[in-house]
Amino acid sequence: MATNALFDLVVIGAGPGGYMAALRASELGLRTALVDRCSQLGGTCLRVGCIPSKVLLSSTEAYLFARDHLPRSGIAAKGFEIELSRLHARKEAIVEKLAKGIAFLMRQNGVQVFEGAGRIAGPQSVAVRLAEREETLETRSILLATGSEPVEFPILPFDHDRVVGSTEALSFSEIPKSLLVIGAGAIGLELGSVWSRLGSKVVVVELLPQIAAGFSPIVSKALQRELEKQEIQFLLGARVTRAEVKETEVAVHVEQGGEERTLVAERALVAVGRKPCHEGLGLAEAGVNLTAGGRVAVNRFWQTSLPSIYAIGDLIEGPMLAHRAQAEGRAVAELLAGKPAEVHYLGIPSVIYTEPEAASVGFSEEELRAAKRPYRRGTAYFQTNGRALAAEMPEGFVTILMDESSGKIAGMEILGSHASDLIGAGALALEMGATLESLAGAVQAHPSFMESVREAAFATLSPRRSGVS
Ligand code: FAD
Ligand code: NAD
Repeated sequence: MATNALFDLVVIGAGPGGYMAALRASELGLRTALVDRCSQLGGTCLRVGCIPSKVLLSSTEAYLFARDHLPRSGIAAKGFEIELSRLHARKEAIVEKLAKGIAFLMRQNGVQVFEGAGRIAGPQSVAVRLAEREETLETRSILLATGSEPVEFPILPFDHDRVVGSTEALSFSEIPKSLLVIGAGAIGLELGSVWSRLGSKVVVVELLPQIAAGFSPIVSKALQRELEKQEIQFLLGARVTRAEVKETEVAVHVEQGGEERTLVAERALVAVGRKPCHEGLGLAEAGVNLTAGGRVAVNRFWQTSLPSIYAIGDLIEGPMLAHRAQAEGRAVAELLAGKPAEVHYLGIPSVIYTEPEAASVGFSEEELRAAKRPYRRGTAYFQTNGRALAAEMPEGFVTILMDESSGKIAGMEILGSHASDLIGAGALALEMGATLESLAGAVQAHPSFMESVREAAFATLSPRRSGVS
């Protein structure tokens, strides 16, 4: 066992939270090490999450558009060919390019990268299992950023062939004729969309009575209708009671409203959530406490029960989102460098990248009602937006919630194309504490999707208004 020079910060986990923390810490002059058991930096997000899924979603969305929408404009391409291997190759090339970019940034900023499993060896020491030996890194502070992994569904455990999680569903080598998706959350809806667009018959089984829980019932219902038009079938309020995995198919027995039915598909994607990844990290031995939900417990400075050990991202309580992990990673680095830092959680947007996309930021109506905070709501529909019509993307709407007492934006929800970008206006307005007057006052380009955000602001201020842009 070798003992390395003293670091100011050793980060375990090179996902968006960890690599951002390492980068910022070294920018601020801290001697920083980054440990990951995988040679390709970027974590779940880059390797098997956000980026590969968005490559598949973007390519298949373009295909869907060319196949189903363009002919209406008199432009019909005949004889589409799907070469899955090239689609996967494009995805892998993008992942590789971004991973190389992260490695370059680490080198450029003097972050020392160690490839191996990291473990807490003491409050200020990390053991790294390298290929042939273990190395101990002494450090003033440790940051745990080891992310999450899929939750196993006991009735339908992963066999990584017929019954898969998101990682395998990003890389099927053939388009399944039929795909059963368990769970209508972000992964189920996004990857269900990818394979449905490519020709799989997709059925989604969801325990709750709505898809995309976390979004308002209005957005959830409207999204469901749009996805049903794309021939995705939903069984809501449905419980899987048992399953049989055979050589060529999976049979799942589902109870819905007192009725039993059996669904058979070539493959099943289990997407019922993710759990924190901390096995082998030495938390219990070190005395790092967990929450009741099994995540690492932290205070508002992301310090665990041991003050020299911090934790961020999917490992701690909160929404499992890459941009949240990044914001926390940056904040911890700044705190360690003696700067003030905070994360404004209310302003963190949430997006499901289906077509149309669903996006939200800030408070929901339910939360405002529960807090007895008077609010006003205004909605603008993309079907009255010239740019949305021109682009053949008129589905959806923008809803803004205004805090009645301050006139400031309290929340925003969007269903529609480009919602992931448009929601940035809501995030910015929340961060700046903008009033609806100023959101409505900012002139937007005509024609543009952003005009609908402005129209929703007008509608919130004058409820009788129904705008055309
Ligand atoms: P991770 O990205 O999970 O990284 C953790 C890293 O720690 C990994 O590289 C792992 O190898 C390493 N590690 C674990 N244990 C050890 C150890 N003991 N020693 C050394 N290294 C270790 N979020 C979004 O915001 N937008 C999206 O569009 C989006 N799409 C997604 C799509 C899919 C299919 C999935 C699965 C997730 C998606 N997410 C998305 C969620 C997002 O990927 C996570 O929220 C994010 O990656 C969490 O970042 P993190 O830094 O906490 O951890
Ligand atoms: P999720 O928590 O988003 O959704 C899981 C769904 O499965 C829920 O709707 C839940 O009610 C349902 N479910 C649970 N048990 C069930 C059962 N027995 N039968 C049927 N349905 C059941 O989880 P996910 O989709 O697996 O995603 C994991 C994490 O990754 C999420 O926290 C998500 O935020 C993140 N992620 C984010 C994005 C994005 O930001 N676009 C994309 C993918 C993943």
